[in-house]
Amino acid sequence: MLENTQLQYDVIIIGAGPGGIFAAYELLEGNKGLKVAVLEAGHPLSCRRCPIDGDKVKSCIGCKVCSIMSGFGGAGAFSDGKYNITNDFGGTLHEYIGRRKALELMRYVDDINMRYGGAGTKLYTTAGSRFKTLCMNNDLHLLDASVRHLGTDINYVVLENLYAHLKERVDFYFDAPVDTVCLTDGGYQVRGKAGTFTCARCVVSVGRSGSKWMEQVCRDLQIPTRSNRVDIGVRVELPAEVFAHLTDELYESKIVYRTETYEDKVRTFCMNPRGVVVNENTNGIITVNGHSYEDPAMHTANTNFALLVSKHFSEPFKDSNGYGESIARLSNMLGGGVIVQRFGDLIRGRRSTKARMEESFVVPTLSATPGDLSLVLPKRLLDGIIEMIYALDKVAPGTANDDTLLYGVEVKFYNMEVAVDHRLMSPHEGLYIIGDGSGITHSLSHASASGVHVARDILQTLEG
Ligand SMILES: Cc1cc2nc3c(=O)[nH]c(=O)nc-3n(C[C@H](O)[C@H](O)[C@H](O)COP(=O)(O)OP(=O)(O)OC[C@H]3O[C@@H](n4cnc5c(N)ncnc54)[C@H](O)[C@@H]3O)c2cc1C
Repeated sequence: MLENTQLQYDVIIIGAGPGGIFAAYELLEGNKGLKVAVLEAGHPLSCRRCPIDGDKVKSCIGCKVCSIMSGFGGAGAFSDGKYNITNDFGGTLHEYIGRRKALELMRYVDDINMRYGGAGTKLYTTAGSRFKTLCMNNDLHLLDASVRHLGTDINYVVLENLYAHLKERVDFYFDAPVDTVCLTDGGYQVRGKAGTFTCARCVVSVGRSGSKWMEQVCRDLQIPTRSNRVDIGVRVELPAEVFAHLTDELYESKIVYRTETYEDKVRTFCMNPRGVVVNENTNGIITVNGHSYEDPAMHTANTNFALLVSKHFSEPFKDSNGYGESIARLSNMLGGGVIVQRFGDLIRGRRSTKARMEESFVVPTLSATPGDLSLVLPKRLLDGIIEMIYALDKVAPGTANDDTLLYGVEVKFYNMEVAVDHRLMSPHEGLYIIGDGSGITHSLSHASASGVHVARDILQTLEG
């Protein structure tokens, strides 16, 4: 441990994801004299490398610090960089700070991204879209959003530029996981690998990767929490032409359907035009995800998106994430990883086999085990997904084709929701909890906006 002599800061930010970055940015915009430190468990952006190369290393080897999830830029550093400017999804920030304010802050973040390298990237919008009517006519609901698609390459450039700007005035500590946050007289003591620090105000922005640590901090400081939802479903892959009329104009469409049988809501998530389906390793459990490349040379013939159903448990069972993990484990047990099934096989009640897959017109972009998803997903969830596929077939004919591929399972885990007020402040004066680590946000735009919000609150209290 590199012991120091209790370095003192005005503000300490824990976590250098979008929440932490935008909190630091806004603090310095408002008061250049502030002494601000950012403590980050992962590496600087330039040192973040995932060892999976598809050749020598094909799957996750469980690095001590995951370079995909941690380091400057946080979990989104190598993402598609889709900034959704909306209150309809991506978090519930608006419930805390108000709808108008939340949108204002998301637009403000978008402006900064444009100034730091994002200029020229496309902003898609569903407003006034003819698809909204088409969806409504077919019992589907297209959510309102403007989507800034930075793309993986430009997203990285923006982060590089923001770091170059911030590092002149902010003390960054990398490879510096924080162990404890303790109350002191008039502030906080923050201890971790980089040493012991004190500050008057502390902003905790530790994202999904910091969820277990966040739970411990809440227990230690007696901050109330409540369980959040888990989203479970499948990833759908079909010929790009089937959704081209939507994806060419909107890039990503978030469509919600209420099932007739159970009145459950099923929604599309993370649409990747001409993209690839990929494995995702969450704590050793293999689930499925997808992404797409900006570079047309990397485009595939297929589009993929998830169909998810939210489950929220309260009493007596509260462990929504544990429920999602158990279902994912079941697919791993039966398929040795992710299972793929043709839609035609699923509705005929038979498993997909290697031979049936080879006859399929849709060529899978992920090598998964042909199997039977009805042995994995609870009936209620599967019925909802099947209903939604038929509903989508009305706005994108071909969706319910026999050869449409379903990969399972896709699971989206959420942090438990931490008790904070409209300032995103915990019951302890000066201790703010923001971004995905608070359970309130789950997107780049909402997490970034929450960072700006608390920075402004801190600036205001300093002035007052
Ligand atoms: C592959 C992938 C693709 C994605 N694509 C998109 C997308 O296109 N659009 C979108 O809106 N969202 C996307 N997301 C989600 C998005 O990345 C997150 O919602 C967002 O990054 C949350 O920001 P955050 O600052 O709250 O947390 P994070 O980005 O998770 O950052 C938290 C940081 O805190 C650090 N940390 C954790 N614990 C500690 C500790 N104890 N001490 C010090 N540091 C700690 C972590 O190392 C991490 O760097 C994607 C996520 C992934 C994984």
